Amino acid sequence: MPLVTTTEMFKKAYEGGYAVGAFNVNNMEIVQGITEACQEQKAPVVLQVSKGARAYANHTYLVKMVEAAVQECPDIPIALHLDHGPDFETCKSCIDGGFTSVMIDCSSKPFDENVEITKKVVEYAHAHGVVVEAELGTLAGVEDDVQVSAEDSSYTHPEEVEEFVTRTGCDSLAIAIGTSHGAYKFTPEQCTRNEQGILVPPPLRFDVLEEVSKRLPGFPIVLHGSSSVPQNFVDIINAHGGKMPDAIGIPEEELRKAASMSVCKINIDSDIRLAITATIREYFDEHPDHFDPRQYLKPARQAVKDMVAHKLVHVLGCNGKA
Ligand SMILES: [Zn+2]
Repeated sequence: MPLVTTTEMFKKAYEGGYAVGAFNVNNMEIVQGITEACQEQKAPVVLQVSKGARAYANHTYLVKMVEAAVQECPDIPIALHLDHGPDFETCKSCIDGGFTSVMIDCSSKPFDENVEITKKVVEYAHAHGVVVEAELGTLAGVEDDVQVSAEDSSYTHPEEVEEFVTRTGCDSLAIAIGTSHGAYKFTPEQCTRNEQGILVPPPLRFDVLEEVSKRLPGFPIVLHGSSSVPQNFVDIINAHGGKMPDAIGIPEEELRKAASMSVCKINIDSDIRLAITATIREYFDEHPDHFDPRQYLKPARQAVKDMVAHKLVHVLGCNGKA
């Protein structure tokens, strides 16, 4: 099947009590690792491209690699999505350039300005058969080159969501309930430590999610910054010359719970980066004489595939839903 929008995916996910994985793509190995896992698990998937990915790999290369994946994985629905579109022009360029979904992120702007720009993107997108994700509330963490401190982040105000969705006409909404971008989602001061000395993050605000869902029945909600930062990857990185002390993510059981509620799309990027970096660091340590990129990128791609397969089955619950 050709690239699809997320409309049908989200409708089925909402009704089925699961979420679709949205994984960031930056190069061929990442596209292959993700889509091979989804093809084997018969899972629908959102492949998403950030502004940084377009700057790194070039728009045309990314679109063509995703088109190749569509051809190689004929049995699963794949959507191509712009992650964190900063302005109308970037969204327009992706809509004109083959994307089936875009995010306009004006969450750092005042409410009325966020409404105004989002509405403009929605009008252009819908006229071209493309769907739009918007955002209310501000996540902490680092996304591409944009850093938001924990103090400047804010939970979504549920009393604003109906007006925002009605006025903008957006198709899905990213909200802030305590997830965060990057591999250092919380400072040690925000956390407690378990018996092993491992940081335990503050719980997500499910009360905010429930209040939002009550006000927007049937409407798909999106969670950003939802990598779990698996400790085994961090340990491998630190054991092979890396330095990532106190890297921390969102516990998988909390994401599973969100997926069973109104959350239809869960964004995962840092876990892909960690899978690749852990694998390559270990490989270099064990094979100091190797220099063929295929030798170390092959296990790195496999690590992405294994990690994604785990998410599909044990976190998102979207396996078998294609
Ligand atoms: Zn994000």
